Amino acid sequence: MKISLKAKMGLVLAFLIILTVTVLSVLVLKGIETNQRDQLESELIQKSKAAEQTIHQSYVTGDPSLNTDSFLQQKGQRLASSIASQSGMQTVLYNQKGQEAGSSIPIGQKDVDVSDTLSYALKGKIAYQISGSSLIYFAPVSIDNQLIGAIRFDHSLKNNQQFIADIRHLFRTWGTIAAAAAFLIGYAYFYRIASLIASLQKTSQQIRKGRYLTDLPFKRRDELGELSQGLFFMSTSIEKNIDQMNEEKRKLEFAISKLQSLEQQQKQFIGNISHEFKTPLTSIKAYVDLLDMYRDDPQLMEDGVQNIRKETNRLHEMVDKILKLSALEKYDFEQRPEQVELKRLLEDICDRMKGKAAKFDLTLHTNIKEAVVWADRESLIHIFINLIDNAIKYNEPGGKVEVTSYTLENSIIVDVANTGIGIPPEAEEKLFQPFFTVNKDRSRLSGGTGLGLALAKDLTEKQKGVIKLHHSDSKWTIFKVSFPLKTEK
Ligand code: ADP
Repeated sequence: MKISLKAKMGLVLAFLIILTVTVLSVLVLKGIETNQRDQLESELIQKSKAAEQTIHQSYVTGDPSLNTDSFLQQKGQRLASSIASQSGMQTVLYNQKGQEAGSSIPIGQKDVDVSDTLSYALKGKIAYQISGSSLIYFAPVSIDNQLIGAIRFDHSLKNNQQFIADIRHLFRTWGTIAAAAAFLIGYAYFYRIASLIASLQKTSQQIRKGRYLTDLPFKRRDELGELSQGLFFMSTSIEKNIDQMNEEKRKLEFAISKLQSLEQQQKQFIGNISHEFKTPLTSIKAYVDLLDMYRDDPQLMEDGVQNIRKETNRLHEMVDKILKLSALEKYDFEQRPEQVELKRLLEDICDRMKGKAAKFDLTLHTNIKEAVVWADRESLIHIFINLIDNAIKYNEPGGKVEVTSYTLENSIIVDVANTGIGIPPEAEEKLFQPFFTVNKDRSRLSGGTGLGLALAKDLTEKQKGVIKLHHSDSKWTIFKVSFPLKTEK
C-alpha cells in the first residue's frame, strides 16, 4: 500500500507529539507520586510523634503504680479514639506483644493481615503497607526511650490516587488533541511540499520524453528551489548536447553522402575514361591492322595516317584534360594568381580563334570592357578558349560568335554567345559533368571529348568565379562567366 508523503509527515509529527506527551506524563506522574509520598511520610511521622506525646502525657499524669502494659490495657481504647479524632485517621494501638490495646476502627469492619508490618514496628522501625486504597502506617511507641508498643494509622489514598488519575486523564485528552492537531498541521504543510515534489517528478518525466524546459518549474529559496533550478539547467544542457549531437550526426551523414557520391563520381569517371579511350584505340588498331594487310595501297595509307593522327590527337587532348582535371581536384600548385587585364587577354584569345571561326564560315565579334582581375592567367586562357571553341564547334555555317563583357557591382561578367544548334533544357543539368555530350557523334566529329566544360567549371571556381549556361534556344546559346574585380585593397 502506498502511503503518501504528506500522510507520512503528518503521522511522524503526530507520533513525535505522542512520544513527547507520554514521556512528559510519565515524568510528571512519577514526580507527583514521589512528592505525595514524601508529604505523606512527613505528615505521618509528625502525627505519630504527636500521638506518642499524647500517650506519654497520659502515662505520666496517670496512676504511677501502673506499668506500661497495664497502662495500655486500661487507657488504650480511649487513647486510640482521642488520637484518631486528633489526626483524622483510624488509629489502632498495640502493646509490646502485638495485641490490640485500643482501636478507632469500628467493630466488625473487615481488617487485613498486618502482622508482618506490625512486627517491624515492634522492633522499633517505621513500616507501612498498602492495601487497596489505604496506606497502613506503623510507628513504634516509646516512653522514656523504652518501647511500649506500636501505633497504626490508616490513611486513605483515594484523594491522591484520584489526583493522579485526573492528571493522567488530562495528559491523555490533551495528548490526543495535540497529536491530531500535529497530524493535520503536518499534513497541510507537507501537502504543499508534496505537490511541489510531484510537479518536479512530472517535469523529469517530460524531460525523459524529450520535452525540454523553457523556464524554471518554480522559484523557491530553499532546497526545493535549488532542485527546480538544477532540473532546469540539466534540461537545457541535455537539449544543447542533443542538438550538438544531431548537428554532428547531420554533418557526418552529409560527409558520408558526399563521400559516397564522390566515390560514385570517381567510379563513373574511371568507367567513362576506359569507354572513351576504347573508341579511338579500336579505330587506331583497325587502321594499323589494315595497313599491315594492304601495305601497297597508297589511298589506304593516306586515310590511315589521317585517321590515326586524328584519333591520336583526340587521345592526347583527352589525356591532357583528364590529367588537368584530376590535378585540379587535388592540388593548387598549378595556380599562379596575378593581376590580369581581362580586355587584353580576351582580345588576344579572340584574335587567335578568328582563323578557326572563319574556317567554319563564322564571324567573331568582341565588345570587351577594361577590367582587372586577380587570377591565374593560364586558367583564364583555358576557360575562354574552351567556351569560344565550343561556340565555334556547335555553330552553323554563316553563324555568329560574340564575346562581350560588362561590370556589375564588384564583378566582371563575360558573355560568350553563339548562334547554332542550342542546348536542350534536359541537358543543362549535366552540361558541366565530365564526359557529358549532348550528341556523341557531333562531338566526335568536331574532336570534342566532353571534358571542356567540366574543366572550365573547375578552373573558374578555382579563381573564385562562377560559370553557367545563361540561355539557350534555337537561335542563341549564351554562357556567362563572372569573376570578382580586383579592388584597390
Ligand atoms: P566537348 O569537348 O564535347 O565540346 P564540352 O564539355 O566542352 O565537351 O561540352 C559538352 C557538351 O555541351 C558538348 O558536347 C555539346 O553537346 C554541348 N555544348 C557545349 N557548348 C555548346 C555551345 N556553345 N552550343 C551548343 N552546345 C554546346
